[in-house]
Amino acid sequence: MTQAPASNELFQRAQKSIPGGVNSPVRAFRAVGGNPRFMVSAKGPYLYDEDGNRYVEFINSWGPMILGHAAEVVNEAVQKAIPNSLSFGAPTRREIEIAELIVSMVPSIEKVRMVNSGTEATMSAIRVARGFTGRDKIIKFEGNYHGHGDSFLIAAGSGAITLGVPDSPGVTKGTAQDTLTAPYNSLDAVKALVDANKDQVAAIILEPVAGNMGLVTPQQGFLQGLRDLCDQEGIVLIFDEVMTGFRLAAGGAQELYGVTPDMSTLGKIIGGGMPVGAYGGKKEIMDFVAPAGPVYQAGTLSGNPIAMAAGMAMLTYLKEHQEVYTDLEKTTNSIVAGIKQNMQQLGLNYTINQVGSMFSLFFTEQPVVDFETAKTSDTALFGRYFNSMLEKGIYLAPSQYEALFVSTAISGDLVDQFVQANYEALQEAHNN
Ligand code: PMP
Repeated sequence: MTQAPASNELFQRAQKSIPGGVNSPVRAFRAVGGNPRFMVSAKGPYLYDEDGNRYVEFINSWGPMILGHAAEVVNEAVQKAIPNSLSFGAPTRREIEIAELIVSMVPSIEKVRMVNSGTEATMSAIRVARGFTGRDKIIKFEGNYHGHGDSFLIAAGSGAITLGVPDSPGVTKGTAQDTLTAPYNSLDAVKALVDANKDQVAAIILEPVAGNMGLVTPQQGFLQGLRDLCDQEGIVLIFDEVMTGFRLAAGGAQELYGVTPDMSTLGKIIGGGMPVGAYGGKKEIMDFVAPAGPVYQAGTLSGNPIAMAAGMAMLTYLKEHQEVYTDLEKTTNSIVAGIKQNMQQLGLNYTINQVGSMFSLFFTEQPVVDFETAKTSDTALFGRYFNSMLEKGIYLAPSQYEALFVSTAISGDLVDQFVQANYEALQEAHNN
């Protein structure tokens, strides 16, 4: 048993001054039981907690640390930028350089605006889409997460294709009724919504590969079908690539699947670990953004010089080392093959979804293609599996409904360590 008395004590203390003891809910381990570990430092594939325990990383700060922690190329750029002041609130050369770099990497982006989080990126993107089309409604998919903007905290009423119902107190009915929801991978459901709301839908927003209900892949023809529908109906197609951008390919899921949206939202890797987001797209749409156009969006710290230095170093590295993506996929393939072999030996047949360096093991035997099928997972079993892996020094996302991220710091030895731990944890989860 790993001991974590210092983390346990800190968690008790944290709950007195921070809601739930954490600054973002899923960090609290509520879905898996037990207390979160409080981290002190990280290097490469390893995280170190307050008790001196070491963990092998498969979350990587929820995606950004694709090169592992404290990557020198990023840290050096940050250290070089610090003495020149932490913020100007005035334009800098580096903001042009990073914009040009993003335009050169992401197929849909001709112009881009930097913000400070993925949430800001998606909130801003739908405002621009509404301003551009003069329409109010948006369509999102069940189980897709686009940050905590009011318009996105909406769940579908028991599968019915109806007006949105707020998912969180504090989201008004007025806001909710402009968000329509459809099951992921159901082009028919989207078409029905568009028909029922003729000329009222401003945007369709989705994760082109969904990572927020566990990893769920777009079925053949789904992305292209949405593209065609948006073209026919004058709807702005937005790919939320906060997670998949610079992760699945240098140009994100849109490059991998060869479908180009009208707008894209970015986050996570784009800041190399600093708080950064961005939204961009076609020139004629982005020219609606102030001060070029009438749609207001601003930020005191947007384009922050330290964050831009980190992002620039990260993106430049990825653009110049695109073999990273084939290497990451190979590593992830070995992990997934190892899990499959373990399951075969143990007589288990759970579903694994994978794209590139993202994957999820779902504790269900059904194929997982949308939120309904994701919810057939045995989350209690997942909780036991998670805690067993943690005991063995493997740090997973503390929820069944998250994807795992592999970094370039995961070597062959660490793959073996993961696969061995997985075998034992699967056994233990079933015995307890
Ligand atoms: N969109 C997607 C697809 C995400 O995965 C996330 C965060 N996990 C967000 C938006 C929100 O980003 P942030 O947490 O930086 O606000």
